[in-house]
Amino acid sequence: MASLDIPSASTAQLDALKELKSSFTLTTDRLHRIVEGFVHSMNEGLEKDGKNLAMIPSYVKTRPTGDEKGTYLALDLGGTNLRVCEVSLKGDSQFDIVQQKFTIPQAIKHSNARTFFDWIADCVSVFLTDHDKEPSPTGLDIPLGFTFSFAVAQSSINRGTLIMWNKGFTVEGVVGRDVVLLLQDALKRKHLRVSVAALVNDTVGALMTSAYQHPSSLMGVIFGTGTNAAYFEKAGRIPKWIQSADGARDAADVDEMVINMEWGGFDNDKDVLPLTFFDNGVDRETQNPGKQIFEKMISGLYLGEVTRKVLLHLVDRRLLFNGRSSTELNQPYSFDTAYMSTIVADETPDLADTQYTLESVLLLPPTTPADRAMVKAVCYMLGLRAARLSAAALASVLTVRKDVLSASKTTIGIDGSMYEFYPSFERFLMEAMAEILGEKLAQNIHTTLSKDGSGVGAAIVAMVADKQREMFGH
Ligand code: BGC
Ligand code: MG
Repeated sequence: MASLDIPSASTAQLDALKELKSSFTLTTDRLHRIVEGFVHSMNEGLEKDGKNLAMIPSYVKTRPTGDEKGTYLALDLGGTNLRVCEVSLKGDSQFDIVQQKFTIPQAIKHSNARTFFDWIADCVSVFLTDHDKEPSPTGLDIPLGFTFSFAVAQSSINRGTLIMWNKGFTVEGVVGRDVVLLLQDALKRKHLRVSVAALVNDTVGALMTSAYQHPSSLMGVIFGTGTNAAYFEKAGRIPKWIQSADGARDAADVDEMVINMEWGGFDNDKDVLPLTFFDNGVDRETQNPGKQIFEKMISGLYLGEVTRKVLLHLVDRRLLFNGRSSTELNQPYSFDTAYMSTIVADETPDLADTQYTLESVLLLPPTTPADRAMVKAVCYMLGLRAARLSAAALASVLTVRKDVLSASKTTIGIDGSMYEFYPSFERFLMEAMAEILGEKLAQNIHTTLSKDGSGVGAAIVAMVADKQREMFGH
């Protein structure tokens, strides 16, 4: 716990901290208002394509039972890494996964479509060679599920065009084009006998993995470099799908469909969220100002940057580090969100871990105990705010699906660095959800770490694609 009771701090320092605390605190009342706005945006997005929540139909119309068997390739393109996996679904809710991780080089993130997809195909090729996985010359192509952690307008279970890049990607010539076709072409150029059977958002992957293991799963969520969620929505509540050609054909036979919410785009109008001076500053300097506003208050890519701005604000008022910064700290995005985890978790008497981060990593001049305690307090406030905003988003979906939550235990599969590593993130989430939904309903919420869920989930959706072809005949 970071308290504002810092004995060695000056009155001016304590006043500044109090002021910050009041702008970063989210009262229960405020959370209720956010939920109200969120639910409204969800309904709007299900009705028609809107500006805030995209609410994208995933074309996943069936749940896995856990009994499915089969071996699939999966490609998981995240914000930081590409993972190539071979997933063996073994039935009984069990699976095996063999995977190889490739860090995405900066140059690739800023290249063009051809270079980018050739690089991905090369990684698949390396994996197949290393693991001896070439199909026999007469055999069928290996089915692959493609997890693509960006906003895609899907038109079927294996078709979708990129809406926009974010999270630092600017690959030219991909926006507006079908990423499955681009990938399939690149695989062909390398003569790889692999066929892309499913296109999956990472949150849909997390949900399917969770559903394979726990039948009570309702949502898949990522709190990582970016943030987003997918959930099972009643088919009858998705007018924009019902009115589409696919909906007209299948709606009568479908109970539920997975919706990729793209909740990072919540409140792009900046109506509901308590954005501070610092949040607006971070937003303005990104590649996509005015977009992904919610994500920029929550996710790992941006949280450290908001914190850095707050710290520099204190420095410039001579309330921190005796008014001095360092070349490192002056550099945008130098304050990694992972440092926040270390600092918030620092229980050493002199905040030695915090001192190490500040002086040896960020190369600041010698810090005082008050400096370190202040930095810890700032990190704590921003982490808490992120978790409470996250809880509001979760609670909104649970409000929309109160029919499920009030009836039985409801499982949420979650993955991502914030959830996995940020101290107390899970506890903050649960506490805030209980504030919003009430203790009684909150007792039905069960969260589970859907580790590697996005890759495994892509394999499950590749399998679901087969199943749906049998069910719906297309
Ligand atoms: C993307 C989503 C993705 C999320 C988590 C966001 O930036 O727009 O598609 O699910 O990050 O990776
Ligand atoms: Mg990921």
